[in-house]
Amino acid sequence: MKIFDTHAHYDDEQYDEDREETLRLLNQGGVTHVVNCASNEKSLQTTLDLAHHHGFVYAALGIHPSDADEYTPAVEERLRRLLKDPKVLAVGEIGLDYYWAENPPKEQQQQVLLRQLELAREVKKPVILHVREAYGDMLTVLKSQQDVPGVLHSFSGSPQIAQEVLAMGYYLGIGGVATFKNAKKLPEVIRQAPLDRLLSETDAPYLTPVPHRGQRNRSDYIAWIIRAIAAFREEEEEAVAKALYANALRFFGLPQEL
Ligand SMILES: [Zn+2]
Repeated sequence: MKIFDTHAHYDDEQYDEDREETLRLLNQGGVTHVVNCASNEKSLQTTLDLAHHHGFVYAALGIHPSDADEYTPAVEERLRRLLKDPKVLAVGEIGLDYYWAENPPKEQQQQVLLRQLELAREVKKPVILHVREAYGDMLTVLKSQQDVPGVLHSFSGSPQIAQEVLAMGYYLGIGGVATFKNAKKLPEVIRQAPLDRLLSETDAPYLTPVPHRGQRNRSDYIAWIIRAIAAFREEEEEAVAKALYANALRFFGLPQEL
């Protein structure tokens, strides 16, 4: 099974001890693509460094809503320049996160999101969206920005919201939560979505799937996520794996493989 991890954070300090070895082994084990997502200003460079040192690692560059207060005109200029790098596939992760009380104010998060959607339009790259307890405002933003393609990473909204964003052309990122017994809405979302709009992701080192929950996540654990998706949809694992792999190539504008 070839694995495409559309969302990971291998520049996280949890990999400081064994990052190179971990990535090398994943690549040998069938993980052919990893999109490492930046989140703050510092990780723009650490993400790009990883993409430059590993052929199978690509970059998404952007400022996460939790760090929206870092988004200055100077950071935007830097982002605009870095996005031209050939290893950068997307703008991300960007979005809205109203869960944490200490996050920047909603208005600031929305402004920073809009600026980065504008950047994505300018450089003609898709966006990787993070949404937590903010689906109402995200829908409002996306309705005015439908010309920018994107994925709602680690989708956690209701089946109704899924239908709305799918109708607007967006993809849904499915990760370890699909294997959690307490995931209530996600099985229904996975059953209803067209198979060609799902992307596989880990959010490593976070959201580790069952049966490895509690450990550090890794891209080859996507096999467990594929298994869960196939079970919910009552489809063959191998067919689901192939479809999600082709989806990721299409989403990021990479050539389809034979
Ligand atoms: Zn993430």
